[in-house]
Amino acid sequence: MNFDFSPKVQELQARLTDFMNEVVYPNEKAYKEQLDQQETRWSDIPPVMEEMKKKAKEAGLWNLFLPESDHGAGLSNLEYAPLCEIMGRSFIAPEVFNCNAPDTGNMEVLVRYGKEEHKEKWLKPLLEGEIRSAFCMTEPDVASSDATNIQAEIRRDGDEYVINGRKWWSSGAGDPRCKILIVMGKTDPSAARHEQQSMILVPMDTPGVNVLRMLPVFGYDDAPHGHAEIEFKDVRVPASNILWGEGKGFAIAQGRLGPGRIHHCMRTIGAAERAFELMVKRAKERVAFGKTIGEQGVVREAIANSRIEIEQARLLTLKAAYMMDTVGNKVAKKEIAMIKVVAPQMALNVIDRAIQVHGGAGVSEDFPLAYQYAGIRTLRLADGPDEVHRESIAKLELRNY
Ligand SMILES: Cc1cc2nc3c(=O)[nH]c(=O)nc-3n(C[C@H](O)[C@H](O)[C@H](O)COP(=O)(O)OP(=O)(O)OC[C@H]3O[C@@H](n4cnc5c(N)ncnc54)[C@H](O)[C@@H]3O)c2cc1C
Repeated sequence: MNFDFSPKVQELQARLTDFMNEVVYPNEKAYKEQLDQQETRWSDIPPVMEEMKKKAKEAGLWNLFLPESDHGAGLSNLEYAPLCEIMGRSFIAPEVFNCNAPDTGNMEVLVRYGKEEHKEKWLKPLLEGEIRSAFCMTEPDVASSDATNIQAEIRRDGDEYVINGRKWWSSGAGDPRCKILIVMGKTDPSAARHEQQSMILVPMDTPGVNVLRMLPVFGYDDAPHGHAEIEFKDVRVPASNILWGEGKGFAIAQGRLGPGRIHHCMRTIGAAERAFELMVKRAKERVAFGKTIGEQGVVREAIANSRIEIEQARLLTLKAAYMMDTVGNKVAKKEIAMIKVVAPQMALNVIDRAIQVHGGAGVSEDFPLAYQYAGIRTLRLADGPDEVHRESIAKLELRNY
């Protein structure tokens, strides 16, 4: 077993780390200040973001995701994992490199299931970072962790489809650059359980697409991207907007959510590393009761456990990425499910300890810890709650005996 990254990956790791040090970390504060000072947090993008994107593109650190496609950097999942981890260290970094959710997953869908006209109209500007997108599956009225519950209706009417329904937690839909939605709904409620659903492209400016509100996460609005509740009222789009074909919604979701899930895990490991680094530095600096906090046994235990847990999660993530590359997303589903359970809980443990070591400062906005905690807590729900992934793992294991 070879644990080394290839020279190509090591070179990209070094370049990405330099870019983070020189451009991203120094601008985190400026980004937040610009966002807070703008007249509206939702209609303008902090200018520093576009400046950083331009630099990342010039540096060739752009669209590093997207395996098996001419559009990306030609990296496998295993090669991308350590790079995605570096991006996960900063809340603004994924967008800087055009590697942010949900756009990466949506771009993969367009690459694999979009028609040429869709690629021209939506994929190209997404790859350029000119527009943004959202993915609308979850609904307020039904338990959406069981996607067969989805009720939104996609009804054929001549050479159009008519969409009616309500979605929420559509991440990214608050962004003024968000121009395209991928909507999941039912085209045939009488079909087999997993063939009732379809996915369809809905331009954001189509009449009947009404953003009702933006949902906060533990009080954070996540502007300018946000999480929207959206009503679809007699929304009409050309029949050609259906992706792959009627009844293929589940099949696309499986393909889409696999890579998306592992990207979240990779970023989560980076976030945990950043929290860990802050914890250790603080523990070495701060003195209480005559010695540094880092000299206290319980804190040393927290540091040791954090290092052990991060390392375990990283290895499992890399294994899942390796399996996706070698046997495909479908066969790797157990590894993907396992890491989807492990990584967010691990990061929450590490961030929680880092918060504790920081005392009151830990829950303030002087450090990224509180915001990290809120964001990563949602990953125990988003892309399927922990319980659903545990259920899939158990099902596969029980089948073996
Ligand atoms: C910040 C954030 C961003 C999101 N972004 C998006 C997005 O961009 N697009 C999108 O479509 N959705 C998005 N979601 C929605 C997310 O995917 C759903 O919240 C998730 O799938 C769970 O669905 P639900 O909220 O309807 O919970 P429910 O289905 O109502 O489940 C509630 C709880 O029931 C329990 N449960 C469910 N099934 C089982 C089981 N088999 N065994 C035991 N317990 C079980 C779990 O504890 C679960 O948390 C986002 C959510 C958040 C919080």
